[in-house]
Amino acid sequence: MASTAIPEQISLRVVVDKEQNRVLYAEAGKDFVDILLSFLTLPLGTIARLVSRDSNTKPCRFGCISSLYESVGNLDPKYLNSETCKQMLLQPRNSMERYNQNLKLNIDDTEPTKYYACIDCLFQGPSLVTTFKNMKCKCGRNFTFLLNPCKWLLCSPLLSGSDKNASGDAGDNTWEGYVKETASFIISDDLSVTPANFNTTLCLLKNLRSECLPEESTVVLSSNEILDLLKYLLISKTALTDSLLRKEHSLMYSDTSFKITDERQDRESTGTMKIKVLMSKSKSKILFAQVEEDFMDQLLSFLTFPLGAVERVLEGNSGAVCVDKLYNSLFNFDSTVDLTSENLKNMFANLMIAPYFNVDNQMVPIDELKYPSELSVCSNEHAIGPYYLTADASLYLRVVRRVRMCDPKPPIAEGKSSNGYAKSRTKFMVADDLSVKPFSSHHVLSSLLTELKVPHHDLEERTIRIGVQEAVSILKASMVSTSALTIGLKEFLSNNIKEEGETKTRSSG
Ligand SMILES: [Zn+2]
Repeated sequence: MASTAIPEQISLRVVVDKEQNRVLYAEAGKDFVDILLSFLTLPLGTIARLVSRDSNTKPCRFGCISSLYESVGNLDPKYLNSETCKQMLLQPRNSMERYNQNLKLNIDDTEPTKYYACIDCLFQGPSLVTTFKNMKCKCGRNFTFLLNPCKWLLCSPLLSGSDKNASGDAGDNTWEGYVKETASFIISDDLSVTPANFNTTLCLLKNLRSECLPEESTVVLSSNEILDLLKYLLISKTALTDSLLRKEHSLMYSDTSFKITDERQDRESTGTMKIKVLMSKSKSKILFAQVEEDFMDQLLSFLTFPLGAVERVLEGNSGAVCVDKLYNSLFNFDSTVDLTSENLKNMFANLMIAPYFNVDNQMVPIDELKYPSELSVCSNEHAIGPYYLTADASLYLRVVRRVRMCDPKPPIAEGKSSNGYAKSRTKFMVADDLSVKPFSSHHVLSSLLTELKVPHHDLEERTIRIGVQEAVSILKASMVSTSALTIGLKEFLSNNIKEEGETKTRSSG
């Protein structure tokens, strides 16, 4: 977009209690509600990147996700499978990217997915297509030949054939976003979204505590206000009030906003990963973990999880109040009346990791969106391009070549099938706030002596088994705290394996 373009703005009708200086509710249509829903599709790493910027408010921290993200930025790529891995983690893609293309205000600056072929190989034989331009083909050249993806190249398996037929084929590349142009919604201060009708209006009336008549006004939002809103979505219980009325409000977690509601204790772990942790006995705090590439991949993959998928895994109870409310609002929507497609509700209930961004042995139950296995590069001209990448060659005049997508993580030349980010046989250390580093004794020692100031007699080393429950628990703690290991593994310390080499979990005493 040209820099001279007038910045996009949207207006929002808000009803304010002047006496208490708070937003009672807002009334909005497609422009604003599509933006709110798009927040749920953002990968956690993207959110950490966006909220680290200035808007009307200062940069803010997103639990442990911010420290994990920043530490990946500082990681030497030689500890990862390829240079592309680092790029993937710092710019994770959004599996719903095309639905967000036409947002009135899109604050996500992740580069849209592009498809590249190697021009030498494309016209000669079996060929690969990648979504990363800087990758090297097996012939040694870079993938630089740009292909046009057909509209349905990457659609959710939940999108039915009728959806596709209704909107035409390759020629039409417009996506309508999430809610219908005609729909109208009531948004509460904590970002619960409800379709506007008699029922919701009467509920509002019931909840008005103030005697005086609330005042209605219209506020104009530009990308700064939308970024404010994303920040307060993560850390506030009153996101509209904080972002629209009290801009000086402190960007800190309140202590009460995070509660561990999980009371299960002493569970037997079926986990297969083992990590060593160094604890302070007196503070019951995990200072560091020493981990291998399997656990490192598990942590790194957090950056690629869509926010809404994490909410599903945590059953709408992440502890981040406004995110929980926004996610749970989806159940208020009527698929046929409010949404542009009947399948959108299902798609939001099963938000996926972008293709090739997942890792092997993913413990957290979030699926990866897959490309169709049969792909072709096609053309509508007899001689030259443009060339289209499609799963349905019948839409085009001529098939140039059958192609297949390649996993961008391992270098193609090495011919490996390993599907992870972290370099194998590498030891990493993870701090309590999930910042990651290659393992170094010097770093452990200097942190213990200078930063953490834990005396030797207070230290204890333990080995913990990590399975699905432990991984989910760390993920949950990472959303709203800065001690994901200590809080996330608190209930699991009895899975401690006392002796090295022991293969069975201790079930009692
Ligand atoms: Zn090539």
